[in-house]
Amino acid sequence: MSDCIFCQIVDGSIPSTTVYEDEDCLAFEDLNPQAPVHALVIPKRHIISLAKIQEGDQSVLGQLMIACSRVAQQKGLAEQGYRVVTNIGKEAGQTVFHLHFHVLGGRGFHWPPG
Ligand code: AMP
Ligand code: ZN
Repeated sequence: MSDCIFCQIVDGSIPSTTVYEDEDCLAFEDLNPQAPVHALVIPKRHIISLAKIQEGDQSVLGQLMIACSRVAQQKGLAEQGYRVVTNIGKEAGQTVFHLHFHVLGGRGFHWPPG
């Protein structure tokens, strides 16, 4: 989608700092980090959110989880722990309507989340 900022990051028209890439997924640094480590893991194909996934999306969803694990490993978070979050819809705070998983680490987190 040409008006989607994450599609524009995938096609290179908006700059980003890549931290991981494979055939289906891209991970890059969040512009407004909420923790010492804050990366976003996205499918290269435009999917709005988990609310809109379909039968054929199993493979990319699995790959996204592997990508989150690899990003965390690469950032040195695997032992100390980290958080993976996806916001779905306005009430959950989704502001970019292209599926993304936040990989957050390098500090402690509260539960339940705010
Ligand atoms: P959400 O509120 O869950 O939809 O998360 C959207 C995230 O995208 C926020 O953490 C923003 O800081 C981040 N973001 C927005 N624009 C950019 C951008 N151009 N590059 C990197 N991260 C971005
Ligand atoms: Zn998009």
